[in-house]
Amino acid sequence: MYYDDRTEVFLDGDWIKAKDAKASLFAQTLHYGTGVFDGIRSYNNGNGFNIFKAQDHFQRLKDSAEKVFLKVPYSVEDMIKIAYELIDRNNLTNAYIRPLVYAGPNMILAPAKETHFFMTAWKWAKYPGFEPLNTMISSYLKPSPKSTPVEAKIIGNYSANTLASAEAKKLGFDEAILLDHDGHIAEGPGSNIFYEKDGELFTPKLGNILPGITRSTIMEICDELNVKVTEKDITPEEFYQADHAFFCGTATEITHISSVNGEKFKKKWDDSIGHNLLEVYQQKVMFDEYRGLTIV
Ligand code: PMP
Repeated sequence: MYYDDRTEVFLDGDWIKAKDAKASLFAQTLHYGTGVFDGIRSYNNGNGFNIFKAQDHFQRLKDSAEKVFLKVPYSVEDMIKIAYELIDRNNLTNAYIRPLVYAGPNMILAPAKETHFFMTAWKWAKYPGFEPLNTMISSYLKPSPKSTPVEAKIIGNYSANTLASAEAKKLGFDEAILLDHDGHIAEGPGSNIFYEKDGELFTPKLGNILPGITRSTIMEICDELNVKVTEKDITPEEFYQADHAFFCGTATEITHISSVNGEKFKKKWDDSIGHNLLEVYQQKVMFDEYRGLTIV
């Protein structure tokens, strides 16, 4: 699914076939989760392809790595070049790019000396829109920022998210919504969250959530469209009263949430602010900021 015999990946400075790539079973990351990653989208824009907000994603990767004492041996600019070459080498355009920084062999709970850098990509279809999601408030909480830096994409942080998603599916829902340690709405397992009420948008303030790049793009678009967005602590009770809600993230863009804990939101997706935002978002991602080409 993620690679075939011809797929090339970038590992520690070399281009190699994915099928020949090897990692140590004694890597600290494998045992303790002290590694970081990012998720980036490349879009076919008719002039080739554009890697959307590559700069922001690779900067976040570097910042995340620092939080777990891993040093990325590449500049943001180097990583952007590697990402463009990766897409070219694999004849992709619409793709999902996954850079991963992981620690070398180390069985003790101290920073590892060796850092590895891996980047791969796989085909990602252009979605006409996602199915509406029936969600539930998870019994799993997003870790407190006092336990682990939640603003970084640390592998270990994803245990709670994976458990929340599994719990939701087991109980017949499509996806989970995690609360933070104070009991406020935090985010989805792999996305940020917004709700609409009386023509305005609301989203959890920063501090207990991953500061998503799609979240900031949505706020930029709202600024352009004069849609008011308020970042604040959101109680589950406020969320239940929303007219509409959506998840947002690099992989899934803007995804319509149709219900929470069995309660349907009032507004139809087609009439919601989220629906308008998705149309503008899908234009924005085409703009080639790196090669300076315009949208076709
Ligand atoms: N929260 C979590 C926990 C995520 O994994 C993601 C996906 N990276 C997001 C939010 C959305 O972030 P972004 O828009 O940068 O993809």
